[in-house]
Amino acid sequence: MDLAAYQKIREECFSCQKCDLSKKRNKVVFSSGPVPCDLMLIGEGPGADEDEQGLPFVGRAGQLLTKIFESVGINRNNEVYITNIVKCRPPENRAPLREETDACYPYLEAQIKYVNPKILILTGSPACKVVLKNEMPMSKIRGNWTKLEGTDISVMPIFHPSYLLRNPSKEKGSPKWLTWQDMIEVKNALDCVRKVKSLTQ
Ligand code: URA
Ligand code: SF4
Repeated sequence: MDLAAYQKIREECFSCQKCDLSKKRNKVVFSSGPVPCDLMLIGEGPGADEDEQGLPFVGRAGQLLTKIFESVGINRNNEVYITNIVKCRPPENRAPLREETDACYPYLEAQIKYVNPKILILTGSPACKVVLKNEMPMSKIRGNWTKLEGTDISVMPIFHPSYLLRNPSKEKGSPKWLTWQDMIEVKNALDCVRKVKSLTQ
């Protein structure tokens, strides 16, 4: 996929009416961050703030996500391409329906192709369900590297920041603490990717 094809798909998405989420949205939330990008993150779907601004993860959960990245020395604006499994806000922030994630999947597929990440973070079980087709609870799959089927992309599932907002303890073994361990893994993997690149380019 080249830049022109990616931009065409992005333009299409901005006027998309492939599912009913188009009816109540204010803004389509396509992505933030650079393209291509070694590190990509996929979340669930826009909330009220995202729907208003047209950018992913800018509300309370997003602010926590920014801090989580900062805590391991990653700048979310310059170093992470961020998107969601649906680009339009589900009413009352309900989980996206299967028909909605199915309708929206081709955009995500195109994004993964063009962004060409080496490392992919999936945050929350809806993203894991859609991308990995894994229905296991997050507590079982988080922190375990896996590969995206048919690719060499390393995938790290982590808890969703909204879940961490509801579970604020930072004690050893808590969801927040576990997420920090997962993000240290991600940072180490990213450093490795960069080192290999610098040696081979
Ligand atoms: N939660 C998500 O999953 N995605 C966003 O963009 C914002 C909040
Ligand atoms: Fe189109 Fe996706 Fe928005 Fe549905 S959620 S209208 S498929 S962009």
